[in-house]
Amino acid sequence: MRVPVSLDDSKEAVATFVTFDHLHDHKEHIAILFDPYKGSATPTVRIHSECLTGDVFHSLRCDCRQQLTEALEMLSGQGGILLYMRHEGRGIGLYNKLDAYHLQIEKGLDTFSANKELGYEGDLRSYEEASQMLAALGIKKVKLLTNNPAKVNGLQQYGIEVSEMIPTRLGETKHNRSYLLSKKRSGHNLNISDDLSA
Ligand SMILES: [Zn+2]
Repeated sequence: MRVPVSLDDSKEAVATFVTFDHLHDHKEHIAILFDPYKGSATPTVRIHSECLTGDVFHSLRCDCRQQLTEALEMLSGQGGILLYMRHEGRGIGLYNKLDAYHLQIEKGLDTFSANKELGYEGDLRSYEEASQMLAALGIKKVKLLTNNPAKVNGLQQYGIEVSEMIPTRLGETKHNRSYLLSKKRSGHNLNISDDLSA
């Protein structure tokens, strides 16, 4: 199903929300299309994992809201696709994410160690569904807006070619610095100093 939705009344940009049947994990992932072939024969794609605290309530604990805003601005201007994945808390869910926040505050663990303390892998996300969504849209090759090589590998594992990795801005603040450092330690390409005194 494809449904047009106006996201910004200052522009004529109308996004198309696309739903899917039979995704591997049966979750309600959404593709949001902004004229995918406007700028290039290879669409620019952002895979965004749902973050209720950041996306909706503007929590400063993480950089999700900044990344979502940056992606929407870029894609609505240049064309592309946002895949909004229901991967709250890197796949562990909202309640577990809040339990992990509690552990981070109480014990000083980082986001990945806290998930492990709760009995989960540091990152449970699979990119099988994102790959299924792109394939259903007839897309076999993308330029991926990300700093995370695991997303590139994840798509390629399921048959989607990534011709280019477009870095996202580093939205560092005093609130999310330790979160960004833990992302860097887990393999994200982030230009952030490990010097905690900085
Ligand atoms: Zn977040």
